[in-house]
Amino acid sequence: MTDCIFCKIVAGDIPSSKVYEDDDFLAFHDIAPKADTHLLVIPKQHIVNLNDLADEHGALMGKLMLTLPKIAADQGLQGFRTITNTGVEGGQEVFHMHFHILGGSTLPGF
Ligand code: AMP
Ligand code: ZN
Repeated sequence: MTDCIFCKIVAGDIPSSKVYEDDDFLAFHDIAPKADTHLLVIPKQHIVNLNDLADEHGALMGKLMLTLPKIAADQGLQGFRTITNTGVEGGQEVFHMHFHILGGSTLPGF
């Protein structure tokens, strides 16, 4: 999507502090961190949010769940919080699906 900031990051048109990349996903530091470590993990493919998923995305989402803890471990996190905001009512501000990884110190209760 030409108008999507995260698609532009995938394309390299906007810089990011990348920590992980494979054929399907990219992970980079959140520009406004809300924890000592705050990463965003995104599919390279433009998917709006969880509401945009179809059966065909099952394998991709399974791979994402397996990749999240690997990225966290690579960053030295032993425990972490994963958040994905879905839709305006869910607090989503960037409409390209992303999973927040928060950690680096013991997080407050949620
Ligand atoms: P959400 O509210 O779940 O849509 O979160 C969007 C997140 O994207 C926020 O935590 C922003 O700080 C982050 N963000 C927005 N633009 C950028 C960017 N160019 N690079 C890194 N993180 C960004
Ligand atoms: Zn996008």
